[in-house]
Amino acid sequence: MPNVTRVIATTHEVSLKGGNRRWFERRLTANTNRALAGLPVASLTRPAWRLLVTFSHPVPFTEVARRLSTVFGLSSILPVHHAGYEIGDVIAALTQRVTLFSPRSFAVRCTRSDKSFSMTSVEIERAVGGAVQDLTGWPVDLSGPDLTIHLLLDRNGFWIWMVRVPGPGGLPVGTGGRGLCMLSGGIDSPVAAYLMMKRGMRLDFVHFHSVPTTDPASLEKVRELVRILNRYQNSARLVMVPLLPVQKEIVQSCPSSLRILLYRRFMMRIGESFAQRFRTLALITGESLGQVASQTVENLTAVQSVTSLPVLRPLIGFDKQEIITLARRAGTYDVSIQPHIDCCTYFVPDHPETGASAGELSTAENVLDVGKLTESAVKDATIERIAEAAAWERIPVPPEAMSERI
Ligand code: ATP
Ligand code: MG
Repeated sequence: MPNVTRVIATTHEVSLKGGNRRWFERRLTANTNRALAGLPVASLTRPAWRLLVTFSHPVPFTEVARRLSTVFGLSSILPVHHAGYEIGDVIAALTQRVTLFSPRSFAVRCTRSDKSFSMTSVEIERAVGGAVQDLTGWPVDLSGPDLTIHLLLDRNGFWIWMVRVPGPGGLPVGTGGRGLCMLSGGIDSPVAAYLMMKRGMRLDFVHFHSVPTTDPASLEKVRELVRILNRYQNSARLVMVPLLPVQKEIVQSCPSSLRILLYRRFMMRIGESFAQRFRTLALITGESLGQVASQTVENLTAVQSVTSLPVLRPLIGFDKQEIITLARRAGTYDVSIQPHIDCCTYFVPDHPETGASAGELSTAENVLDVGKLTESAVKDATIERIAEAAAWERIPVPPEAMSERI
């Protein structure tokens, strides 16, 4: 795999405009530093809208790209070569490199942020493109080139790259408030977490379990999911809530068709209690409209009516295949599909209600001491600080980073 000593990571200017710009940039730089920890970073500087990382010795680009793909706010990851200060230097640098490739067609694209240079971008593109064509005979194709030679001219001279790896996009984690994510151990909720972190939110997690009726090994699975998600945001609290006492009461005293919805209402209440304790502003779930009987719009509304916190559902309009694609990208899929039994699959009725109302659920709960059940579940919960992150191998290498044209 090709090694690199320099990488430029770009950001979306738009998101960084305005009075918060410096704050965004500081977060982004800190998050980038954290993702690169352990690699031989000699310097990380911030010329204009870019981050320039210089390594003290060559490192595999795949590894750098894997790590930077966890830094929300980055829009591209570019393996760059420094190519001097004059057009002649650029052509000399390209002369060595272009002989390694045989593209069907090519184009040169130049961005010039040093406006004092004597040539315009178009003039630079023509001069460099002409030299490459003389050297190789490759046909030029400006609309759909097989190979694009990118040039950036800034105060530090010319930079060249031929491969652009899309960054993860979004906003730096730490700039979007705090949320508490209800993490089940399935495929969906880790993806919901990923998408909220992508909008800059920092998350804590709450998991409900039915141990000892369900296997305690499922708790370790949830911890591993948090460790993977920590790659995007550092560390998190994980609240483990025993739901079995609540479930037993519901099974004993309430209509079976409403069980899941009643479990869910307790999850919301218990979640809200920890959200208040942690000063988080929202609850996050992995619900997607119509995916299962409990996720009709009537049911979602009837369940959330017990909390005054906003319930954010980033997957609401996604289908399963889209969610799986994101789970693979986030690196959570392989752990999510390991078999486990969710607490909600316990005592599940054959014919769950699909059109419940808040009133109907409140009536069904009349026979329960809701306050006391909630309180004792909160009291029996344990709060873990998950400070470590999963092995980097859990995070996939972006496919574009495997190009031989680095
Ligand atoms: P997932 O794949 O995340 O398990 P799902 O499609 O299985 O989701 P449900 O089981 O209906 O959907 O759960 C919907 C959402 O409710 C989950 O995405 C999660 O946010 C929350 N949830 C469900 N079970 C639990 C649990 N045991 N602990 C915490 N949250 C849960
Ligand atoms: Mg589930």
